[in-house]
Amino acid sequence: MIEYRNLRIALLGGGSVGAHVASLLLEHGDELASRAGAGLELVGVAVRNIDAPRNPPIPAHLLTTDAESLILGADIVIELMGGLEPARTLLLQAINSGADVITANKALLATHGPELFDAAEQVGAQLYYEAAVGGAIPIIRPLRDSLAGDRVKRILGIVNGTTNFILDLMEREGSSLESALATATELGYAEADPTADIEGYDAAQKVAILASLAFHTNIPLESVYREGITAVTLEQVESARKAGYVVKLLAICERLVDAETGIDGVSARVYPALIPATHPLAAVHGVNNAVFIEAEAAGSLMFYGAGAGGLETSSAVLGDLVSAARRHVIGGPGVAESNHANLQVLPIAHVTTRYQITLHVVDEPGVLAAIASLFSEHHVSVETLTQSTGVDAGGGSSDPSATATLVIGTHEATEAALAATVTALKTNKVVRSVVSVLRVEGL
Ligand code: NAP
Repeated sequence: MIEYRNLRIALLGGGSVGAHVASLLLEHGDELASRAGAGLELVGVAVRNIDAPRNPPIPAHLLTTDAESLILGADIVIELMGGLEPARTLLLQAINSGADVITANKALLATHGPELFDAAEQVGAQLYYEAAVGGAIPIIRPLRDSLAGDRVKRILGIVNGTTNFILDLMEREGSSLESALATATELGYAEADPTADIEGYDAAQKVAILASLAFHTNIPLESVYREGITAVTLEQVESARKAGYVVKLLAICERLVDAETGIDGVSARVYPALIPATHPLAAVHGVNNAVFIEAEAAGSLMFYGAGAGGLETSSAVLGDLVSAARRHVIGGPGVAESNHANLQVLPIAHVTTRYQITLHVVDEPGVLAAIASLFSEHHVSVETLTQSTGVDAGGGSSDPSATATLVIGTHEATEAALAATVTALKTNKVVRSVVSVLRVEGL
């Protein structure tokens, strides 16, 4: 029997994820010790309410409300409390007392990541966070280690299960956004207050983390452009389907050269967008998550799976625990977070993408030519134009109130050029209304 050195593990939080981490650590301790090369002793679990029911149960003697005392003397501290405070302060205390730390807390990392990484670097500790993006999906380690020798060009992610579930239900069952949200709430996929999910805040935190890693640059959360799904209509989803697209809330980050200034920069953004029905991300249904990476040498890679769930997420946390334990056994300083590239984060106005614009226009001769020239005046090149009602440019209706629907697909254009085009469309006398403007990604 091999005698392992024992490492003291302090767990902060015994909720959805924490209770599974505690249970698996106790149940599979010997196996994990063999993989880690060290004994993993769970010394305690900090919670708010000792008497609250836990699923799975945690032995009562491990529970404490004194998180500060628990981390004293711990070799590894796992933070699964959520929120910014006291999580930040406790992790800084743990790092400064020489512990390696593990967290699944994307809000904390997106807001205070640099402070925590700097603190870890100062003392030679390591901060692990595989569970912070994509739940069970291994994505942090592939970006940080496996792709460290490559250059990531772009990441498109479905990183929020709640919004993917809602959009998927709209797409597959024709539900309205409101009714799909109600179903998500009933099934426990949406919080009582769904704002963080449906307004894209959760996805923005995750894309800030992914972009920082992928582009070796600190990407502040405030620099992430964000739109949620609340303006997405069933009509948009249905007309997207007819045109061979699916609407998804995408978290996107990419390396870009600014067309105006020539600056080599990065864009990080979250918005609902059309993707071709043939794109691998279009096949991500329900609450699942996926991250699609385009790298210079590796080409396209996709990481897919459960983006949340206490048990599923505990897999990523325990993987970090084994890594942290191995590092303790080997010794030496942790590997600092790489932000050597220090690229500029470009504002959304400088980003180029394609668009699909749906207009209701007056159905009379010359309208198509007028619309086409308006686009061209604003430097947006039209790629496709379909007219679903009314007559084409060569004819004309005798009814002055007749309305035609135009669906216009553009070539790549900057957000600024597109915004100016939409403003001009809204005041043009042949345009009755701008029904929808959606970006097209993944082409
Ligand atoms: P949760 O179910 O709300 O559990 C939070 C736990 O922390 C509870 O046990 C709570 O104690 C304890 N806690 C909170 N504040 C505390 C304080 N001030 N002092 C002591 N204990 C405190 O949260 P969760 O869903 O497990 O999520 C934990 C973290 O994992 C979050 O950062 C979340 O974003 C991340 N994450 C979660 C998932 C998921 O599927 N749930 C997926 C990926 C990442 P009581 O039980 O006594 O209230």
